[in-house]
This record gives sequence, C-alpha cells and structure tokens, in this order.
Amino acid sequence: MPDAAGRRAGDSVPHKPVRAYIGLGGNIGERTANLAEAIRRLGETPGITIVAQSTFLGTAPWGKTDQDWFLNAAVALDTTLSARALLDACLGIETAMGRVRTEKWGPRIIDLDILAYGDEVIDEDGLQVPHPYVADRAFVLTPLAEIAPDLVISGRSVADMLASLQQE
Ligand code: ATP
Ligand code: CA
Ligand code: CA
Repeated sequence: MPDAAGRRAGDSVPHKPVRAYIGLGGNIGERTANLAEAIRRLGETPGITIVAQSTFLGTAPWGKTDQDWFLNAAVALDTTLSARALLDACLGIETAMGRVRTEKWGPRIIDLDILAYGDEVIDEDGLQVPHPYVADRAFVLTPLAEIAPDLVISGRSVADMLASLQQE
C-alpha cells in the first residue's frame, strides 16, 4: 500500500539486488537496432545490471494479428530498484525512444514488460507482476527459455510452460 506521500514499501530504500526478467519487443522501424538500444539503455540505468540476454527472435503478431511481424527478446537483470521504479525505467525508455500508444496491442517501436521481479507477486494499479500473459505467449517464453528455462513463474517453470504451449 502507498503511504500518505505515495511511497510504497522499499521504493526509495536501497535494498539487496533482485533478479528480474524483462520481455522486449517491437514491430516498427529498425527492429534489431531498437531492441539493442533498449537493452543498452536498460543496462545504463543506475541500479540495473544486465546479467543475461537472449537472442532476437522474429515472431508473428499476437492478439491483434493484422500488423507487421515482431522482433522479441528477453533479458535477466539484477536491480536495486523497486518493482515500481523498474517499471518507470521501462516506460521511460519506451517514451525516450518515441513510443506512442494508440490501440491496444497495436504496432510499437519498443515495448518493455516486467515478466518477473524476484518471486514477488504484485497486483497494483498499473503494475501486475508476474506479467499476466507470460504462460500464453510463445514470443515471451521462447527467448526467456534461452536464458532462464528453470525460472518458476506462478508455480510453473518457463520450459514447462513453453512445452505446454507448443503442444496446443
Ligand atoms: P501487454 O501488457 O498485454 O503485453 P502492452 O505491453 O501492449 O500489453 P502497454 O500499453 O505497453 O501494454 O502497457 C500498458 C500498461 O501496462 C503500462 O502503462 C503499465 O502501467 C501496465 N503494466 C502492468 N503490469 C506491467 C508489467 N508487469 N510490465 C509492464 N507494464 C505493466
Ligand atoms: Ca507487452
Ligand atoms: Ca508493455
């Protein structure tokens, strides 16, 4: 719960690094360069250290299928930022790179989603962690399985969720 000043527990208090996972994607412009730039910006953010990075994976659009193909990636990072501050960093990178939101699940230069933040479960206004659709999205699970197949999200390993999706 936020306090009277709008702070949440741990927001500005330095804490032990937490391992978090970010899913990235984009389908406008120079997809490869945009993914690389977003990861570079993440790594340059104070309080964030990138520890692993997947390859870049071309994927068909999901949810809203009448748009260009995507390039997706996943990164693992250690961060002393709170989950909320990490979200703000992700949204800040999207904005700095020129993302404009029009329609839900529409085309985008770059998207950064927090897939997991340690083993925390967060359900706040504008912040759900783990990301609610992880288990349904091969474009998230495939790159994530390259760097963290044994990571458990909501009780299931990444490798297991990916195998289930591939059997559908
Ligand atoms: P989806 O969330 O289904 O992948 P999207 O990425 O296209 O869709 P956005 O328009 O990028 O959705 O984000 C909408 C809002 O989602 C953001 O402003 C942010 O507050 C909120 N949000 C909630 N949980 C998360 C999370 N785990 N990671 C990133 N954004 C989140
Ligand atoms: Ca997304
Ligand atoms: Ca997003």
